[in-house]
Amino acid sequence: TGGVCADVRRPRRFLVLINPHSGKGQALTLFSNHVQHMLQEADITYTLQVTERQNHARELVREADLSQWDAVVVMSGDGLLFEVVNGLMEREDWEEAIQTPLGVLPGGSGNALAASINYYSGSQPVSGEDLLVSCGFMLCKGLVSHLDLTSVCLASNQRLFSFLSLAWGFVADVDIESEKYRHVGAARFTMGTIVRLTSLRVYKGKLAYLPAEEPHSHSSPTMSSVSFNNGSNSSSVYLRNSYNQNQLLHNSCNSNNAYKPNWTNEPPVTMQGPRDSLLVPLDQPVPAHWTVVKEEDFVLVMAVYQSHLAEDLIAAPASRPDDGVIHLMYVKAGISRRALLRLFLAMEKGAHLSTNCPFVGYVKVQAFRLEPFSPTGTITVDGEVVEYGPVQAQIYGRLARIVSG
Ligand code: ADP
Ligand code: MG
Repeated sequence: TGGVCADVRRPRRFLVLINPHSGKGQALTLFSNHVQHMLQEADITYTLQVTERQNHARELVREADLSQWDAVVVMSGDGLLFEVVNGLMEREDWEEAIQTPLGVLPGGSGNALAASINYYSGSQPVSGEDLLVSCGFMLCKGLVSHLDLTSVCLASNQRLFSFLSLAWGFVADVDIESEKYRHVGAARFTMGTIVRLTSLRVYKGKLAYLPAEEPHSHSSPTMSSVSFNNGSNSSSVYLRNSYNQNQLLHNSCNSNNAYKPNWTNEPPVTMQGPRDSLLVPLDQPVPAHWTVVKEEDFVLVMAVYQSHLAEDLIAAPASRPDDGVIHLMYVKAGISRRALLRLFLAMEKGAHLSTNCPFVGYVKVQAFRLEPFSPTGTITVDGEVVEYGPVQAQIYGRLARIVSG
């Protein structure tokens, strides 16, 4: 993990992708009011590309000559970055393409990665336009950190790459139901949570996981809380100076795991990427050394690999962008509405894991499998609905790179 390099060479060239409909529909105005002059001051040249439809950004980065850009920046919510990550991983040169530094500017209603990056930098917790300004400064500074990605396999053999989360149950339902409150911006999750509490239900299914390797043998795998600032910059390098490609992938075989996405409404593309060496096919039982969770009645299951699930929800306070760990959390059925509300309120400060709620499970894992029993339901990946059914995932430490503070 290289140290911080002090030599910052300019100019830098960004591709900025803006979804004009994200959030309250003001992304373009926010960009010109808050970010444009900042980039100019920092001698950053950029090409602005306004997305015209869903999957536009995905197609653009899949075909783009990436050597033109020092970073690909997304001004939207997490959904547009999800497109960019998957577009890059669909390229034949994915291994190099996914090394393109990514930048986030919060313009959507779900800006979890932007909030996480701000948190990792040790800055004040901020939201809304203050978060945008903070992320704008980080872009100008141009520090680049590694970013873990999780490979998610769906029942139809489609494979996706995810930078944020996989959710089922309460959280996934809130995520999708709250889409209709997009006009209120980030507050949509709070509104959605309160509405959903009134129709709280049980989700039946089977959860299994492969625990993360614990480097420090003393720390318990459950409820261990927080060391916020451990080496946040230790793996950072500056833009333009960091093309010594560290060996990021232990395995770059991409032949016998070529999935054809058929869920997104676009023509099938062969998904490239590393081979999922920890996973066995979904129609076979999980490997014997995996842990199977005893409970089968849940209120929610969420796998998160960043600190924030929304601007004001710190789901995994101990997460680092490159810790190579999936923070797997579940809430067992039987929890009262009041206790669940308390849990979500505590999550605003990242304190939910220290409430010792007996219904909460938390474990750090490298891989997991979730098999819902009911024939219909909702699973989200990075806040986007994906094919419902059995799903499994494994994390790849440091597969991507992100401009951070
Ligand atoms: P938000 O946080 O407001 O939901 P996202 O970045 O998550 O913002 O975007 C929401 C969805 O909009 C994503 O699925 C993205 O693919 C899609 N999208 C991107 N550009 C456009 C566009 N021009 N018109 C409609 N949808 C778009
Ligand atoms: Mg992480």
